[in-house]
Amino acid sequence: MTTKQKASPAERARALREQIEDANYRYYVLDDPAISDAEYDRLFHGLLLLEEEHPELATPDSPTQRVGASASSEFSPYPHRVPMLSLGNAFDEDDLRAFDTRVAKLAGMSPVYVCELKIDGLAVSLRYERGRLVSGGTRGDGAVGEDVTPNIRTIRTVPMNLRDTPPALLDVRGEVYLSKSAFEKLNEARAARGEPVFANPRNAASGGLRQKDPRLTAERRLSFFAYAIGAFEGAKKHPPTQFELLAYLRELGFPVNRNAQRCASLDDVLAYCRRWEAERESVDYEIDGVVIKVDDLALQSELGFAGREPRWAIAFKFRAREARTKLLDIGINVSRAGKLNPFAMLEPVALGGVTVERATLHNLDDIRRKDIRIGDTVIVHRAGDVIPYVVGPVLELRPKNARVFKMPDKCPVCGSAIDQPEDDVFSYCTNVACPAQVTERIRHYCSRGAMDIEGVGDVLANQLVDADLCRDVADLYDLAVEELSELPRMGEKSAQNVVENIEASKRRGLARLLSALNIRFVGGQNAALLAGAFGSIDALAAASEEELSAIPGIGPQIAESVAFFFDRPQNLKVIERLKKHGVDVTAPKRKVVAAGPLAGKTFVLTGTLPNLTREAASESIVAAGGKVSGSVSKKTDYVVAGEEGGSKLAKARDLRVTILDEGGLRKLLGG
Ligand code: NAD
Repeated sequence: MTTKQKASPAERARALREQIEDANYRYYVLDDPAISDAEYDRLFHGLLLLEEEHPELATPDSPTQRVGASASSEFSPYPHRVPMLSLGNAFDEDDLRAFDTRVAKLAGMSPVYVCELKIDGLAVSLRYERGRLVSGGTRGDGAVGEDVTPNIRTIRTVPMNLRDTPPALLDVRGEVYLSKSAFEKLNEARAARGEPVFANPRNAASGGLRQKDPRLTAERRLSFFAYAIGAFEGAKKHPPTQFELLAYLRELGFPVNRNAQRCASLDDVLAYCRRWEAERESVDYEIDGVVIKVDDLALQSELGFAGREPRWAIAFKFRAREARTKLLDIGINVSRAGKLNPFAMLEPVALGGVTVERATLHNLDDIRRKDIRIGDTVIVHRAGDVIPYVVGPVLELRPKNARVFKMPDKCPVCGSAIDQPEDDVFSYCTNVACPAQVTERIRHYCSRGAMDIEGVGDVLANQLVDADLCRDVADLYDLAVEELSELPRMGEKSAQNVVENIEASKRRGLARLLSALNIRFVGGQNAALLAGAFGSIDALAAASEEELSAIPGIGPQIAESVAFFFDRPQNLKVIERLKKHGVDVTAPKRKVVAAGPLAGKTFVLTGTLPNLTREAASESIVAAGGKVSGSVSKKTDYVVAGEEGGSKLAKARDLRVTILDEGGLRKLLGG
C-alpha cells in the first residue's frame, strides 16, 4: 500500500495552472465559463501566492505572467501597438491601503486618484485615422487580439467619425458591454425560441462581439464606454491627467461613463468603493468593481508596470454575488395568504459576507423550467439585501441520483387539500383555518375595507394567534375583555374597545363579510356583486359554478374560486360559527340587469388567443354585458377559440355553437 503524499509545490503549481488555463480558454475563447469569477480569482490568487513563496516556479508562460488568452484563430490577428494589460486585484480595504502605500512610497507623495466603475464587459481597442474608425480588435493576450472590425461597426454608440480636431492616429480603449435591459430582452427572445439562455451579460457581450456574421452582433445591441488611450500621434497635446483624458474622449464623441470621480485621498477612494458596491444595482449595466487609477499621467509612466499589471492602477473587486453549493432538499413554506412557496435547503455557503443556507425557488414552474433537481450543485445569487435565489443547476455536476421535485398534494402545515389553479404558477392551501394563514386572515378580516374592526392590526392579530386565542376569524367573536387585557401592552380600556368594535362588525352585511373572508379574486367589487345577486351566504354557498358565472361581472375564474371556497367543509364550519355569533350574512337582493351589446349572451373561451389573455377577453365580454362560462352547453351562444382549442372546441362543433376567433370577438365587441 502506498501512503498518499502531500503534493509538492511544483505539482500544486502545475495543477493550478492547468485549471486556470482551462478556465481562461472557456472564458475568453468559448465565452462559456465553467466556474464562477470568485472561484477563478481564488485559484489565481493561490497560484500567485505559491509563486511568491517559490519564485523558481514563476515561469514566463505562467498565467500569472500573461494577459487573458491567445486570440482565437477564427479571426485575423489584431496586433496592438501599445500592449493592453490587465489589472491587479484588491479584494478588501486592506488591499487598497497596501496599494496606496506602495504607490505613495514609489511616487514620494500621496497621489490624486481617479475612481471609475469597472464595467463587466470585454476590453477592445479601436483605431481612428484622421478621425475615422478604421479597425477594432479584442484584447486577446494583450499583444495580439482578434480583428472584429465589422462587428465593432454595428455598435451604435461607437462613433464612426470623431468630432473636434482628432489626432492623426488614435487608439481608444474601452469596454464593450451589454446593458442589463438588453440582456434580459435577449434572453427572453432566446428562451421563446427554445435556445439556451446566457448566464450573464458579460458572456453574451463577448460572444456577441466575436460572431463571424456581423448581423448577429448587431442583434445583441451592444454598447461601449471609452476609458483609455493607446497609440496617440499627430495631436498638439495629450491630456495631462486621467480625469481630463475622460473629458477629452467625451469631447471627441465617445460615450464615457459619467460616474468617474477624482479622489484626493484614500479615504475618498474607500468611500467611492463602498458607495458603488452598495449601489451597483442602480445602473443598467453590470459592474464588478471599481478601477482606481493614479490621475497624473506623467506619474503613471514613471510608476510603470510590474509584469502584466500597471503599478499605477488596481481593480477593487466587489464581493461575489454568486456561489455554487449543493441543493440538499426543497422545503415548502406556506405564506400567510396560503401560497405554497418552495425554498431551497442548501449546504451552507459564504456569499457576499453572510452564510447562505436557504434560498427561494420562486415556484414549481420555475423549478421545472430550470430543471433544478434535489442533489444538484446549484448557482445561488444574492444581490444586496435581496433574498438569495437559485439561478439554476450546474448540469455537468449533476449526480446520477438527483431527484425531480414534486409539489405535495396536501398543505405541509395543516394537511388540507391544495388548489393549483389553471393559469397560476402557484399552489394554495385551501383551508381558511390553516395556522400558517391565520394571522393574515385575521388582520385582513378586521381591516377597514373589510369588517372594519378598529384596534386589530398586525400586532394584535399576531398576539391573538400566538396566545392561541384565535385559530380562525370566528374566534374573534368569542374574545372576552379579561382575556384580551392580559395581553402585553393591552389595558382594560383598550380591550373593552376592541370587544365593542368586534361586536359592531356583526352588522356590516354580506358584501363586507365576503370581501373579509379572503376568497381569491373576491375583492370589494366582486363581493358586492355576489352579495347583491344572491342575497344570503347560504344561497351563495349553494350556487354552482355555472350559476355563479351567469352573474354579469363574474368571470369563470372568479366563479371557480368562489365555488371552490364554499366546497371546503372547513370554510363552511367557520361560516356556521359566524352565523351562530349573529354576524349578518345577508344583503338586500338586487336584480342585476346586464346592458351592452353582448347582454344575455353566454361565451366560452378555449385555447390561446393571439393577442388577448383569457382574463382580458372575459373582462371585455362581461363589460359588454355578456357572460363567460367554463363549459360548453346548449345554452352557450359563442365559443371563442384560439390555438389548441381542445375538447371544448369539439363540443361546440357537436352542438353547432357559433365559433369565433379573436377577430370575430372583437367585431361583436364593437371593433
Ligand atoms: P480584470 O477583469 O480583473 O481587470 C481588467 C479589465 O477590466 C480590463 O481589461 C477591462 O476590460 C476592464 N475594465 C472595466 N472597466 C474599466 C475601466 N474603467 N478602466 C480600466 N479597465 C476597465 O482582469 P482581466 O485580466 O480582464 O480578467 C480577469 C478576471 O476575469 C478575473 O478576475 C475573473 O473575474 C474573470 N475570469 C473569469 C474566468 C472564469 O472562468 N469564470 C476565467 C478567466 C477570467
